[in-house]
Parts: sequence; structure tokens; C-alpha cells
Amino acid sequence: MKILVINAGSSSLKYQLIDMDNQNVIAKGNCERIGVDGLITHKFADRSLQYEVPFPTHKEAFMEVVKALTSGEGKVIGDVSEISAVGHRVLHGSEVYKVSTLITEKVIDDIESFSELGPLHNPPQAAAMQACRTVFGPDTPMVAVFDTSFHQTMPEKAYMYGIPYEYYEKYHIRKYGFHGTSHRYVSQHYLEMRGLKPEGTKLVVCHLGNGSSITAVKDGKCMDTSMGFTPLDGILMGTRSGAVDPSVVLYLENKENLSADQMNDILNKKSGFLGVSELSSDARDLVNASHEGNKLAKLACDMVRYEIKKFIGAYAAAMGGLDAVLFTGGIGENSGELRAEVCEELEFMGIQLDEKENDYNTGSDHKISVPGQKVEVWVIPTNEELAIALDTKAIIEG
Ligand code: ADP
Repeated sequence: MKILVINAGSSSLKYQLIDMDNQNVIAKGNCERIGVDGLITHKFADRSLQYEVPFPTHKEAFMEVVKALTSGEGKVIGDVSEISAVGHRVLHGSEVYKVSTLITEKVIDDIESFSELGPLHNPPQAAAMQACRTVFGPDTPMVAVFDTSFHQTMPEKAYMYGIPYEYYEKYHIRKYGFHGTSHRYVSQHYLEMRGLKPEGTKLVVCHLGNGSSITAVKDGKCMDTSMGFTPLDGILMGTRSGAVDPSVVLYLENKENLSADQMNDILNKKSGFLGVSELSSDARDLVNASHEGNKLAKLACDMVRYEIKKFIGAYAAAMGGLDAVLFTGGIGENSGELRAEVCEELEFMGIQLDEKENDYNTGSDHKISVPGQKVEVWVIPTNEELAIALDTKAIIEG
């Protein structure tokens, strides 16, 4: 069975065709600059093709994806009928979609109606589903996999904010959490790999990339997570501030005479690693610069590591214990230095890293804690596309 996974952004459409019999990626790529001009990168069998095609909308991008998969140099399947189903990544499912769902017209309408909660992602994702329906026809099943679903098990005390209750009732303002597909994949994968039943287990998953979030997973279910109403909350990220005292926002708007949109831009695009270091949003650049003595780069590294450490402690307290800490995402998987600093002086909690194992990046599941410690620490590469494909397969097979 072959499943196509689609991850649509406002001006891009990433795809992966996965053979579910062996979980191999047959081809993958990205259509960029949709609505501007158009560029597709198509990768298959260790080869990569890149060419320009006009993409006025997501529909033309979809047509090009089908063309790239079924014809020319990059052809990997005879025709589109070989694709059994399409799995779509969706940013926001509000409180309505607690699990992945077979896509109907009503589901697409709902996803569109949550646009206020996910203004940059939900509209293009709904548009991509319509485009996919047009190009693939009505007989190819499509499944929506929501970034928010895994976090829907949070208790009320974790997801409510201390603001007047009427705003929850009127505008659904609460913590939703994001990266759910990754947190679910990594936590389930760990439990399966270790042959553990979810009941009674207490895990902290640190998904650290350009966007980062940390989740407390108790009994296999999300109990709390660091991102909130939007993906701006939580720890310092590439260009996002993470949590700040809300008064800072009001104070700055006043002092600098900023509109809400300008403030939004500062918090989402000019803060985080970039804002603090005044150098780069990329963690690797900051690590290199801090080694060369750049003080602000070092400050940004120190801040994020301290924040991660605090979340691990807080979530261990919230869950009443801790069995494992799992690192994933570009930074979590690759930065031994960050992992070492985060775990430093946590021996009192039963966390101690094996220095050699931690320094050694295998690119696959890898235990990095000293054997026999109370808490295991692992690096587990995330695979959101495979998680989406697995959900899609499970749903179409009923
Ligand atoms: P996204 O959230 O966009 O999916 P990724 O998960 O790919 O991002 O993570 C990208 C981040 O991972 C970048 O900040 C990059 O610098 C960082 N990264 C990758 N390799 C390393 C490394 N060896 N050391 C530190 N950071 C790294």
C-alpha cells in the first residue's frame, strides 16, 4: 500500500510517498513559492530534480506533484491509482478533533472555520485538501492528522488560563499545544521499543527544532505541554520568544507605539535565538558563535537550556515521577552539548548522561543515560510523516 503525505504551508506544499509495506520513502519533495511563481524539488532514489513551474494556487502544485510522481525522469509509480490514500497534516483541530479523521466536506469546512486559531496554516491546509480532491478525484480517501489532537487529553487544570472564564466560552481561549503528532510518535515509539504498557509510565518529550515544545506524557497520554493557545508559548525558539510576562507586551506596545500586528511580528519573527543573540535563529550558528566567545549567543544558549531543565523538573512534579526523558527534533537529536547541559546536576532525580553515548550521534534511537539510572534518557528521531501515514492507513482500513 502506498500513501501520500501532504504538509501544506501558506506558500508551500511538502509531500512524501511512503510504501507502507516496508515504511520506505519512495519519493519526497517540496513545491515552493505558491502564489508567487513556483519551484518544485523532487527527490527519489538518492536523486534530486529541481525545476520551475508556475503555481498560482495549491491546485497547480498538486498537479505537478502527481506529474513528478507518475512521469518523466522522477517517475516512481505508473499512475495515481497506485496511491491508496492521502494523509494531510493539519495545524489546528480546535477542541473538536481529538483524533485523526477521515476527510469529508464537513471536515474541510471545520478546518477552515478554525482559521482564527491557526491563521497561517489552516486556510492553506483546507485549500490543499480541496485541491487534492480535485486532482485525485472523490474515490481516493483523505485523512486529516491534527497537531493539536494528542494534547486533547490534558486536564482542565492544565489547559485553562487564569483569565475571566467568559473568554474561554466566547473565544475558546485555552492551551491547545502543538507538535502533537511528533510527541505522540516519539512517546509511543519509546514505549513499544521498550516493550512497556502505557499505564503507569511517566515521560517527558522534548521536541526541539526551529519551533520547540516539551510535553508531559503520563500513561501514554498528554498531561501538559509547553506551547499554549498558539505555538508562541513555552521555551525560547528560533525566532519566537516563548513565554514572557504578558505585561511586557502591553508595556512595549505603549513605549514603542506598536500596533498589535507589529507586536505579533516582534514576538514571532524577531525574538527567540535571533532576538537575544542579534545574530541568528539557527541553533548551530549560536553554538559555534558562543564557542568563539560571542556573549549574546552564549546567553541565548544558556537561556534555552535552563528553560528546558525547568520544564523537565516541573513536569516530573506534575506527573508525580519520571521514567524517561526523550529528545527529538533538529536540536534535540543533534546537539549533545545542549542535552548535556540540560541534564547536568539532575542526578538527584535519577538522571545521569553517559558522556560518550551522548556525544555520539547515531541518527537513530539511542540511549544516552548511564545504565541502571532511575530515569532513562534517549534520543529518538521524530518522523511525523510516517506517523501521519500510519494514522491514514489505520483509518482507511477501519
Ligand atoms: P523545524 O522545527 O523547522 O522542523 P528542525 O527540527 O529541522 O526544525 O531543527 C532545526 C534546528 O536544529 C536548527 O536550529 C539547527 O541549527 C538545529 N541543529 C541541527 N543540527 C544541529 C547540531 N548539530 N547542533 C545544534 N543544533 C543543530
